[in-house]
Amino acid sequence: MSQLAKCVYRFGMDASGFDVTEGSASMSAVLGGKGANLAEMCRIGLPVPPGFTISCSVCTDFTKGKLNWSDIEDDVWDALSDLEERMGKKLGDANDPLLVSVRSGAPISMPGMMDTILNLGMNDQSVLGLIDQTENERFGWDSYRRFIQMFSNVVMGIDSDLFENVLTKKRLKRGVKDDSELSVEDLKDVVAQFKKIFHEQVDPSAHPGVVVDEQVQFPQDPRLQLQLAISAVFDSWNNSRARLYRKRNEISDDLGTAVNVQAMVFGNKGNTSATGVAFTRNPANGDKIFYGDFLINAQGEDVVAGIRNTQPLDELKDIEDFKHVSKELEDIFVLLENHYRDMCDIEYTIEQGKLWMLQTRVGKRTAQAALKIAMDMCDEGLITKEEALLRVDPDQIDMLLHPQINPDANINVLCRGLNASPGAAVGEVVFSSDDAVKLAAEDRPCVLVRWETNPDDLKGMIAAQGILTSHGGKTSHAAVIARGMGKPCVCGCEALKIDAAQKTVKVHGTDIIIKEGDIVSIDGTDGIVVLGEVDLIQPKVCGILETFLSWADEVRNDEKMGHKIGVRANADNPQDANLSLEFGAEAIGLCRTEHMFLGERKRIIQDFILGDSENIKERALTELLKVQTEDFYEMFKIMDGKDVVVRLLDPPLHEFVDDPRELAVEIAHLEEQNADRAVLKEKKALLHAIDALAEVNPMLGLRGCRLSIVHPELLDMQVYALASATAQLLKEGKNPKPEIMIPLVSVAQELKVLREHCEDVISKVEQDFAVGLTIPIGTMIELPRACVCAEDIARYADFFSFGTNDLTQTTFGFSRDDVESAFVPTYIRQGFLQKNPFETLDPGVNELIKLAICGGRSTKPGLVAGVCGETGGDPVSIDTFYNDEVSYVSCSPYRVPIARLSAAQAKLRACK
Ligand code: ADP
Ligand code: MG
Ligand code: MG
Repeated sequence: MSQLAKCVYRFGMDASGFDVTEGSASMSAVLGGKGANLAEMCRIGLPVPPGFTISCSVCTDFTKGKLNWSDIEDDVWDALSDLEERMGKKLGDANDPLLVSVRSGAPISMPGMMDTILNLGMNDQSVLGLIDQTENERFGWDSYRRFIQMFSNVVMGIDSDLFENVLTKKRLKRGVKDDSELSVEDLKDVVAQFKKIFHEQVDPSAHPGVVVDEQVQFPQDPRLQLQLAISAVFDSWNNSRARLYRKRNEISDDLGTAVNVQAMVFGNKGNTSATGVAFTRNPANGDKIFYGDFLINAQGEDVVAGIRNTQPLDELKDIEDFKHVSKELEDIFVLLENHYRDMCDIEYTIEQGKLWMLQTRVGKRTAQAALKIAMDMCDEGLITKEEALLRVDPDQIDMLLHPQINPDANINVLCRGLNASPGAAVGEVVFSSDDAVKLAAEDRPCVLVRWETNPDDLKGMIAAQGILTSHGGKTSHAAVIARGMGKPCVCGCEALKIDAAQKTVKVHGTDIIIKEGDIVSIDGTDGIVVLGEVDLIQPKVCGILETFLSWADEVRNDEKMGHKIGVRANADNPQDANLSLEFGAEAIGLCRTEHMFLGERKRIIQDFILGDSENIKERALTELLKVQTEDFYEMFKIMDGKDVVVRLLDPPLHEFVDDPRELAVEIAHLEEQNADRAVLKEKKALLHAIDALAEVNPMLGLRGCRLSIVHPELLDMQVYALASATAQLLKEGKNPKPEIMIPLVSVAQELKVLREHCEDVISKVEQDFAVGLTIPIGTMIELPRACVCAEDIARYADFFSFGTNDLTQTTFGFSRDDVESAFVPTYIRQGFLQKNPFETLDPGVNELIKLAICGGRSTKPGLVAGVCGETGGDPVSIDTFYNDEVSYVSCSPYRVPIARLSAAQAKLRACK
C-alpha cells in the first residue's frame, strides 16, 4: 500500500459468492455517480459484474500533478489481483483471459465527455484463449477488433472513422449490411488492418509507452493496456470538451472523475445474448410502463450508436430464450424504484440467458413526465406530497404552458438568438407593428421582426404570434414585454441584418434574404429561428398541473410550516387580469397605468403633454379621466374581492410622444417639397415642444412620483378615476379592493405630500358618490435611498413593494436597457457576476431589500412588503425572498404557476 488515503473501492462478489462491496449510493463524491450506483446495486443484491472503482480525488491530484502513476500503481495492482482472484481468471491470460471494461464516471453526470473502453485485456494470445473457452471463433475476433478500435480512439485519440471505413469496405466487399454477418476470416483481416492503422497513426514521441524495438505496436501487455486506459480517463477530465461542458453547466473543475474497472460480460455471444437500456417509467410522458430497447447479439454501445435497429423492450418477453430475463428485469424495475424512490434509468446485458446490471441512475425526463411521475409516486405512497413538490423543476412548469416545436419534427436551424420568452410561433414576417396589426385583423399569423422593440410596438407585439429581434438581451424591452404577455420571443439574433425600410432581412453568413410575407418559425424556449413552417404542439396537462399547484398552495399557506408567502400577478389590462386568475394569482401586485395610455389613447396624453393652451390640456385630462375610470372599473370588477395594486404614472413623459428624429426627417422632407407654411410651422412647434422634454438620463429624470409633484393634475385625474370606479362598484354591491402605489420615492416628504394629495381626492370622491372608501396608499421601493431611509418612509406607507428592476439599475448604476449587449455578458464570462442581476436577484441588491424590510417593519410591525420586479418570477430569487420574509411576489401571469411552485419549494427547503 502507498501512503495515500484509501483510493480504491471494491464492488461485487468474491469467489465464494460473498458480497465484498465497499461503496454505496451516498458516496458519489468519492466514487462518481456510476461507481456509487454500481456499489449500491451490489448492496441490494442485484447481479453486477465485479470490479473496483478508483476514487475521484485520485483524478484531481493526478491532473494537478500531485500524483504520478507510480504513486497509485501498487493500489491498482492490488485491486486487480484481488479482482483476478474473485473471478478465478487473470487479466489477458493466454488460456482463459479475464477481460475488463474501463469506465469513467464523475460525481455529476457529464454525458459524452469520455468514452468507455470494453474488452480490455485482449491481445494476440488471449484472443485464442477466449475462443478456446467459448468455442466461438467469431465472438473472439469480434471482441478483439472492438477493443483495438476503442482503445485507439479513446486512449490514443485516433479518428474512429479510419476504423469504420475498414468495416464499411469489408461489408461492401461481402455484400452484407451488418457487421454481425462478417465471417471469422473477415474479422481476422479487420484486426490486422486495425493494428496497421494503430502503427501508422500513433506518434511515438507522444506515446513512448507503446514503442517496442523502436516501432509503434498495439500494446500486448494487459497491464500496460490498463495503465494507459486509466491515465487516459484521468486526462480526459481536462480535455477541452469536458472543460467547456463544466463551464456551461456550472460544474466545479475540482470534482475529478472516478475510473471503474469492471469484469466484462458479453451480450455478443450469440442469440441468447443481448444488451439494452431501459427506464423504469416512460421518460417522455411519465406512464408507468416497461420502457426501453434491446439488441440481440450485440455489445453495449451498439444500442445507442444506431448502427442496427433496436427492438422495444416489451418484445423481450415474447422471445422464448429471454422470457425469464424479462420477468427478472420487471422485478428489478420495482426493486430499484422502491429503493431509489424515483424513476431510474438502467443499462443491462444478457450473457447467454443470464442478466447483468451495468448501470443505474435517477433518470432524466421531460417536464410532462416529471410532473406525472412525481404525482403518481405520491399516489402510490412511494414519496410524500412535499417530496413530490420538490421533484419538479419550476422552469419545467414554464415549458408546459407554451406551445412547442413538435420534438419529432425535422427542423433546419437558420440562426440562433437568446431564448428570451418560451414557446414557439409560426407566421409571416412583418417589419412594423402596424403591419402586424393589419395581418392580425385578417387572421394571418405573423412574426414581428424588429431591430429592437419600443413601447410603441406594444400593439404589434400583441397582434403578432411571436417576436424576433436582432438586438438586445434577455431583459431588453422585447424580452420583458414578451415574457409578460407569454409570447414567444427570440432576441439579440445578431445574424439578422434587418432593413426595415426595404422590408428585408439578410442572414449573415448565408445568401438568404427573408422578405415580408415569408414564413418563419421561432422557438423562444431554445432561441432558434427556422425558415418556413414547423409543426407545433400545444401541451395539455391542465388537469394534473392544477392539482399539483394546489398542493403547492397548501404548503405556501400553511402557517404551521412557516410564514405565508403570496403570489400575485402583474397585469395592466382586463385580459391579463383574467389570465392571472386562471393561473392562480391571489391578487394583482402591479397594475401599470402607462400602458393604458397607448394605442389610440396616445393622442390624448400627447395633447396633455404638448398642448399649447390650458384648454387643450384640460380637455385631454377630462378624456383621460373617462377612459381611466372605465379601465379601473373593468379591472376591479374582474378582480372582485382581491387586491389590485395600481401604480401611478411612472415613465418619463417623452415616452408618449413621437420620435423627434423621425419628426425632424419629416420636416426636412416637407421643406424640400415646399409644403404649406402653416403645416410646417405646426410641425416645427411640435418638434420644439418634444425637444424641450428631452433629458440626458431619462431613467434618472422627471418620472415616477416626481411627475405627480410637477404635474399634480395627472395624479388628481388618476386617483379620481380609481376612487370613482371603486365607488361605482361598491354601489353595485361589489367588493373592489384597490391600493394606490406611488413609484420612485426617495425622500419621505415626497410620499407624505402625495399621500395627503391622494387622500384629498379620495374624500372628494366620497362626497361626490356618498360612499365611504378605504384605499391603502403605499410606495414602490426602487431606489437605494428609499431602502436606507425605509424607517422614515414607512411612516407614510401602508405597504411597500420592491421594484427590483429599477432597484437593480440604480444600485449598480447599470442601465438595464443597454447593459446586456454592452458588458454584462463579459462580466459573467470573467466571473465578476455570477448571473445577470436583472434576471436573478443580486446579493448586493438583496442587502438593500433586507435593510428596507427591517426598517419598514421597525416603524410598522407586520408591514406588507412585496416584490413586483422581473425577479418576482424567478425561482432562485423567490428562494431569497422567502428567507427575507417578503409578504408576496408578483410576476407576469404566465410565471404565476412557476412562482407558486417556487414559493412552496422555498418554504419546504427553509423548514427542512
Ligand atoms: P456511458 O457513461 O457513456 O454510458 P458506460 O461506462 O456506461 O458509458 O459504458 C457504455 C456501455 O458499455 C454500457 O451501457 C454497457 O452496455 C457497456 N459496458 C460497460 N461495462 C461493461 C461490462 N463490464 N460488461 C459489458 N458491457 C459493459
Ligand atoms: Mg452508461
Ligand atoms: Mg420602476
